[in-house]
Amino acid sequence: MSTPIYLDYQATTPVDPAVLEAMLPYFGERFGNSASRGHAFGWAADEAVGVARKQIAELIGASPKEIIFTSGSTEAINLAMKGAAAMYGSKGRHIVTTMVEHKAVLDTAKHLEQDGFEVTFVEPDSSGRVSAQAIAAALREDTILVAVMWANNEVGTLNPIREIGALCHERGVLFFTDATQAVGKVPVDVLADGVDLLCLSAHKLYGPKGSGCLYVRRRNPRVRLVAQIDGGGHERGMRSGTLNVPGIVGLGKACELCATQLNGESARLLELRERFEGQLLGTLDFTHLNGHPVERIPGCSNISFQYVEGESLIMGIKDIAVSSGSACTSASLEPSHVLRAMGVSDELAQCSIRFGFGRFTTTAEVDSAAAQVKEAVTRLRELSPLYEMALEGVDLSKVQWQADH
Ligand code: PLP
Repeated sequence: MSTPIYLDYQATTPVDPAVLEAMLPYFGERFGNSASRGHAFGWAADEAVGVARKQIAELIGASPKEIIFTSGSTEAINLAMKGAAAMYGSKGRHIVTTMVEHKAVLDTAKHLEQDGFEVTFVEPDSSGRVSAQAIAAALREDTILVAVMWANNEVGTLNPIREIGALCHERGVLFFTDATQAVGKVPVDVLADGVDLLCLSAHKLYGPKGSGCLYVRRRNPRVRLVAQIDGGGHERGMRSGTLNVPGIVGLGKACELCATQLNGESARLLELRERFEGQLLGTLDFTHLNGHPVERIPGCSNISFQYVEGESLIMGIKDIAVSSGSACTSASLEPSHVLRAMGVSDELAQCSIRFGFGRFTTTAEVDSAAAQVKEAVTRLRELSPLYEMALEGVDLSKVQWQADH
């Protein structure tokens, strides 16, 4: 069996060979615990962690002391939201987030509701974008936290983070952004963007799985969090637990590579994406792009192929590795909560596929994938009476109605 073409870069990315090389010594001779202050093994590990802290901070415009290492974004999200809610809960009990966040944010918000907080879930527009005005309308006197993702993991739409950051600062509300899909893909500058808390994850930017961090602003304002894991007081007491030194070294190296490659890679990916979309949207009928046409991370294309069932299509393009909806929820066949919130019909949501391009995607792979998708869609539609009727101009809303009743 040949290896499929990997077009699922929003689910995870391969580890860059340079990242792997940087990590390897920390599985071997440099195995020390970074908290061991009394010998050279500990010092070597601690020094490597310090280098990584700097590499990460530089990519997002932070200072190294503002980086708190975690096991990834899910943990960082829990720390940011539950930690802020516990610290500032006496000031107010209201939180604002959006309907299109990742499950890690949505479920943490729901947990906080059970703890007595009130949460407003702001609806996006039809491209999946949430405006600063919509956030402003949701703010209340007792709002303590706003959580808005930087880039959506299903459709790639970018939110107006700088505007939302400015709004939150003006209103004295903490601003957390889940930047898991944005860091390394678009420029991020926590100071200029007015971000107080930000999470990122190594495995989305060519680093290893199980490594990530939370940026916690130290000035204007100084953000304080109640730790969610108790123990030895690592990471300035905010996240106890022996540091994952190889994972952290890998995250640091991955960030360094992203910083040097960001501009060139964004332009290359945008070209690939346009080439891919041109071959599908430009030639197949009843095909719709989900997400913002322009304000979108360069490596993401979410497309609905009407009159084809999504799972059948995925089975029909076995040589391409893609996701229907979010990889994290694809175990359920429920239509995606993101597409639903954008107002996409269940029918179109069920036949949507996310194609993700990245550092190792080639033009030949994009062309081959587009040709395979076209062939499979055309073949599956030949079996679809609905497609036949649509071509003949039959009003399918009536046909559907009869089928439903
Ligand atoms: N937030 C977003 C937007 C994501 O895409 C993901 C991963 O799918 C996560 C959070 C969770 O990240 P992690 O796998 O590091 O826990």
